[in-house]
Amino acid sequence: MLNAKLASQSHPEHKTVVQLSKDIAIGGTELAIIGGPCTVENREQMETVATQLKHAPVQALRGGVFKPRTSPYAFQGMGLEGLEILAAVKERHNIPVVTEVMSIGQIEDIAAHADMLQVGSRNMQNFDLLKALGSAGKPILLKRGLASTIEEFVMAAEYILSHGNPDVVLCERGIRSFDPYTRNVLDLGAVAALKQITHLPVIVDPSHAVGKRELVAPLAKAAIACGADGLIIECHPEPEQSVSDARQALSLEDMVDLVHGLRPLAAAVGRIIPEIHKLPQLAVVS
Ligand code: PEP
Ligand code: MN
Repeated sequence: MLNAKLASQSHPEHKTVVQLSKDIAIGGTELAIIGGPCTVENREQMETVATQLKHAPVQALRGGVFKPRTSPYAFQGMGLEGLEILAAVKERHNIPVVTEVMSIGQIEDIAAHADMLQVGSRNMQNFDLLKALGSAGKPILLKRGLASTIEEFVMAAEYILSHGNPDVVLCERGIRSFDPYTRNVLDLGAVAALKQITHLPVIVDPSHAVGKRELVAPLAKAAIACGADGLIIECHPEPEQSVSDARQALSLEDMVDLVHGLRPLAAAVGRIIPEIHKLPQLAVVS
């Protein structure tokens, strides 16, 4: 490994726990499950997502407002209007939100509202962006590049750490291969390796890894079994109607079922999926 002096694990007990809010963290005993659509489409969509996913429960919501699309003619995201929707839903439901930042100019606005800023695969080696995120003042969810080595991934994290931001969460989201049957290949070996060679939390995105909704749950389980600290999963009130990544979107009901199904697995590896009452707005009167 190159000189990853800040990202490397210096001692087996050395683990970074990234706080998303007062009650919600990534990298501790509790697993962090993040769910939501690929793209924020409108206020009703995000309200439905927030309301339904409380029953999973998820610890944070996702939703892209600045979207890196392969085609310049595809929907590019709602931009600041979408960010306002995320901010409103976060406020109303008291749940952290995660969204992607694509350029330095977007950092200030996104950091003002989101609890964690996602760096997408296509920007993993956008070094100027990584440097600027060093002073974003918010945790960063760094996704592995489409064809990046583990070393390149760790060094990308090192850019953010060395520019002043200690709160970096790594995300394995599948790497390119020769076989188009699955969108990418989920590299669980990388998850295990990253947990050993760095002290940073590692989460898994099975949605972008497989690209097919029927394959998301088995990979989510495998990720937890091999030591991931959490998951980020795409789901939508009407999955087939998603404006982007429709083929991999789970229904909200399937998302809730998936999280419930993970509980015994989490327990088997000494982890916990927080109970519903963890979220303040969900306080259950008994
Ligand atoms: C996304 O999270 O919607 C996304 C574009 O992911 P990735 O950067 O991993 O392709
Ligand atoms: Mn997506």
